[in-house]
Amino acid sequence: MSKIQKPKGTLDILPADISLWQYIEQAVRETAKINGFSEIRMPTFEYTELFCRGVGDTTDVVGKEMYTFTDKDGSSLSLRPEGTAGVARSVIENGLYAGAMPLKLFYLSNFFRREKPQAGRSREFWQFGTELYGSSSPEADAQVIMLAYGLFKKLGLTKVTLRINSIGCKECRPQYRESLLNYFSGYEKELCDTCRERLQKNPLRVLDCKSPVCSGIAKDAPKTLEHLCESCNTHFEKLKAILDACGVEYIVDPSIVRGLDYYTGTVFEFTVDSIGAQSTVCGGGRYDGLLSSIGGPELPAVGFGMGITRLIQALKDESLVPEFDNGCDIYIAALGEAAALPVFMLGQKLRDAGISAETDICGRSLKAQMKYADKAGARFVLVVGENEINQNSAELKNMRNGEKTTVNLTADDIIGNIKR
Ligand code: ATP
Ligand code: MG
Repeated sequence: MSKIQKPKGTLDILPADISLWQYIEQAVRETAKINGFSEIRMPTFEYTELFCRGVGDTTDVVGKEMYTFTDKDGSSLSLRPEGTAGVARSVIENGLYAGAMPLKLFYLSNFFRREKPQAGRSREFWQFGTELYGSSSPEADAQVIMLAYGLFKKLGLTKVTLRINSIGCKECRPQYRESLLNYFSGYEKELCDTCRERLQKNPLRVLDCKSPVCSGIAKDAPKTLEHLCESCNTHFEKLKAILDACGVEYIVDPSIVRGLDYYTGTVFEFTVDSIGAQSTVCGGGRYDGLLSSIGGPELPAVGFGMGITRLIQALKDESLVPEFDNGCDIYIAALGEAAALPVFMLGQKLRDAGISAETDICGRSLKAQMKYADKAGARFVLVVGENEINQNSAELKNMRNGEKTTVNLTADDIIGNIKR
């Protein structure tokens, strides 16, 4: 029979890689906790309308890349392509906006986009995301940026560049939109099909287009920063002053507009050049209009999404992946049939006491058991035969330094000796 393979663009996270994932997940959770962010878990799929209204149907993510299907009752559902819209929906539906403000949430979840799979880009991928609701101050932007920065520092990354920009609010965006439209209209024939189509509806999207022709044209397009209103400008200047005061280096990069419609004001990315074309490890910004656009109250918000696989690549490139010791604490080998049950029971007593103990469950010879113990990375090995059982003692071997000690065949004595 032919073999079945995983769908294109998905990935298996194998036991050999899981320690690194868990290491990152732990660093994420610790960093979130220090910053006062609580975890939230959303459904894997939502009504399609949420993403159309929340993220915007002129975006690539929603317009081109979503996994959408019709449920048996005729409703349209989509696998979540990002986290912000789902969190916003949950904040409204559960009335979280009525609690203490600011509301600080984070998620560590998988998302789905039907993109062209390549290095740093898959169809199912993982993001660490933060959402801070209830503050429109630049300090809130700064805390979210500093949280990401803090995580990179905690993991030891040094080659991360922070890029910031402001894309204006509902006061100044319309003017900017006009001048963009003017500019791009002069190149209408040269733009890619998608951009030509979305030009009238959302000219900002052209700035984010990955096609070389469009991004070439976009290089000389009018810059958002030249069109900011007084209040957006003050906000941006304050954010820069906070980052300066905290010693965080950044580049003001007018090419950063972010690919999702809900952004207003501050936008930012953290990039790592060494990881290749998909160099954005983290992208985020402010989205003050999102909650009200999906039926909630007016509530300012700021947050980011960080790609875990790109983060892993960055760690690998800087040789920052720690050595993980996943070996079991002890392997107890049974010599002869009479030893099998006592050895299994001893192993179970140790497991009950919280020690990772392995014993033979394949009916193997002593030699084969020892080979397995080695593969399992056992820290200690104990060989128990009939003699040992009769004497109620055996030789405990430390596999890291070769040291041997005689121990009683009781869980307490063994634990005392392997914990030393
Ligand atoms: P890109 O410009 O690289 O497509 P994006 O603007 O679509 O990114 P966001 O929607 O802001 O990305 O998601 C935040 C982060 O999630 C990205 O910076 C990236 O690290 C990660 N990410 C996004 N899409 C993918 C994907 N298909 N595969 C792996 N990681 C992804
Ligand atoms: Mg994308």
